[in-house]
Amino acid sequence: MKAGRPTAPCLFLYLPGYSTDIMNHTTFLLVPNFRVETFTIEQLELLTHVLQDHHVNGVKFTAAGRLRVAGIDRQQLDVIAEALQPLANGPVTDWITTIQSCPGKEGCRYGTRNGEELAARIEAIILPVPPPAKIKIGIAGCSMCCTEPYVRDIGLLAEQKGWKLIFGGNAAGRPRIGDTIAEGLRDDEVIELVQRCLTVYVHHAKPKMRTARFMEYFGVEAFHRKLFDEDIGDTNA
Ligand code: SF4
Repeated sequence: MKAGRPTAPCLFLYLPGYSTDIMNHTTFLLVPNFRVETFTIEQLELLTHVLQDHHVNGVKFTAAGRLRVAGIDRQQLDVIAEALQPLANGPVTDWITTIQSCPGKEGCRYGTRNGEELAARIEAIILPVPPPAKIKIGIAGCSMCCTEPYVRDIGLLAEQKGWKLIFGGNAAGRPRIGDTIAEGLRDDEVIELVQRCLTVYVHHAKPKMRTARFMEYFGVEAFHRKLFDEDIGDTNA
């Protein structure tokens, strides 16, 4: 069994229940449909047994809240994926690159709202067409912003009066603070408005244009007008 870092560019496949990066011609990286913010002792035991049974050492809980099992061969891939299926805890979403939510009020004394439920509902959103570029999402349970919502494509920040929705942030080489789209939102309103933001973005952005560059290109005021005053067309498939 070979292990190591993925060679670039990786071929990223989304399969029912899990995704894989081909690391090279003989080894694979498995990303089960399992977000790791919270899990039970039973889930942890299952995970340990499966990995021990297959002599897997390259496991990582990523900053994006995912489990990555590295350095497995093609024959092991399907067997391990099936064995880890009981851990699956969300829809397989192919339009989100990463989604991070902090423990929120369930697990942090500063938290005022629970972002994990919201994350699951956002993952279930269906877009009218695929986004032209990566979508990274950060959900923070308080103004400490541990998941950095101001520099994510979509940021959600819990406040006493409700959720603040931020759109168009980026933390990469051309960083951009996202624009506040609305405040004081209830969970249902967040889902509806995230869907509208993404619908405007996917219909008007150029190929490969991230949300940060899109907001500069489209204009913040025009984006607000489109969101709140104009017909944006179908919001899902
Ligand atoms: S953002 Fe706030 S609620 Fe979330 S982990 Fe950080 S301090 Fe806790």
